[in-house]
Amino acid sequence: MSTPITVEQAREAALSMVTPLGAERVALTEALGRVLAADARSDIDVAPFDNSAMDGFAVRAADLASATAETPVILEVAADIPAGTWWDGPLAPGQAARIMTGAPVPAGADTVVMVEVTRTASGDGSIGSRVAFAQAPGEGDHIRRRGEEVSAGEVVLSAGEVIGPAAVGLLAATGHATVEVFRRPRVAVISTGSELVEVGMAPGPGKIRNSNSYSLAAQVRAAGGEPLRYPIVHDDVAAIEAAFLRAAEEADYIITSGGVSVGDFDFVRPVLERIGKLAFYKVAMRPGAPQTMGRVGDTPVFGLPGNPTSAYVGFEVFVRPVLRKMQGHTALERPRVTARLAHDVRKRAEKRYYLRARLSASGAPGLEVELAGSQSSALLSAAHRGNCLLVLEAGESHFSAGSLVECMRLDIEEGVVL
Ligand code: AMP
Ligand code: MG
Repeated sequence: MSTPITVEQAREAALSMVTPLGAERVALTEALGRVLAADARSDIDVAPFDNSAMDGFAVRAADLASATAETPVILEVAADIPAGTWWDGPLAPGQAARIMTGAPVPAGADTVVMVEVTRTASGDGSIGSRVAFAQAPGEGDHIRRRGEEVSAGEVVLSAGEVIGPAAVGLLAATGHATVEVFRRPRVAVISTGSELVEVGMAPGPGKIRNSNSYSLAAQVRAAGGEPLRYPIVHDDVAAIEAAFLRAAEEADYIITSGGVSVGDFDFVRPVLERIGKLAFYKVAMRPGAPQTMGRVGDTPVFGLPGNPTSAYVGFEVFVRPVLRKMQGHTALERPRVTARLAHDVRKRAEKRYYLRARLSASGAPGLEVELAGSQSSALLSAAHRGNCLLVLEAGESHFSAGSLVECMRLDIEEGVVL
């Protein structure tokens, strides 16, 4: 395999190496953004009882059939039912019960009339007072029915559904203090490079800080995974082997940075070939052609290039979808939008480009996109300032200002409809 594979082939290969992880039970307070691993059923009817949607009076609609402004009907207040209380009733003909929002509608009553359309005819509105009704309500008005949301024993949320804030509310209402969700992948983050020093150190001659370990761990976290940052590994076959073997035991997935190119000290690929299996090592894309993938034992290994932006883009394009799949997500594609190019862009024809770019509302209809800074793969500023990857296809080399181009949005989650 000497010619590079396409981005699509590489993505397909990377995704085919993983399946959703097992389930774990988490507190409902920790469930936001997770994917349900088992159907959640309700233990009760929700609502648990017919209840009032308004502050007002529970009545028998038949009593008020003749009510008009000229000929109001007067009913006697027989009960006072705040939310959280229970009155057995039954409400007799000629009676009304004062009722608050969320309070149980008593036996005998079939309708709620809101307080705003009533008038106190005598008394202070409490039990024994008399209330005038000046219009005939529709039977069943302003009553929220028992079981309207879900009945006892029914599935309220199905396996595979993503838990948003409303789902958290539904799970709470149906008795789920804990929920079964797909596990987060534990992702080993291994930076290789004899030039690397820790962030807390001032780099000596020829050294640089190990920034990829931090940016990649942050990307893992943003993708829902649990990063395990490993110590720096020098460009040494035995050290890389040892790190891979340890990570294959501890982690569900391994990502590395550096050491995947054709330099004299690029050992990630030979190590994968020796102690594991190599799947691919070159993708027709820019930045970051030497995206490398394989496995050690059963643990997939994704070897990202060392240049910070090559690693960043490689993660977004290949690793993030994989980590989402492992968490049970089925929406794996970032939303894409078409935008007007603000200026000319030139590229080499043979590769797909992912340029760090910024979408904005230009004033004219539609979105405009411009490069977010220098596109050197050694520089991260444009990735920080940008909000999308401008995707320019292989086969073309010149895109002029005003042309319509496709952008992969990094500021919107997968599955969002635009
Ligand atoms: P490599 O892919 O190992 O050839 O590295 C490509 C470039 O990325 C070199 O300039 C490295 O110094 C740089 N680089 C490699 N690893 C890191 C890292 N962990 N953090 C920041 N830069 C790195
Ligand atoms: Mg290196």
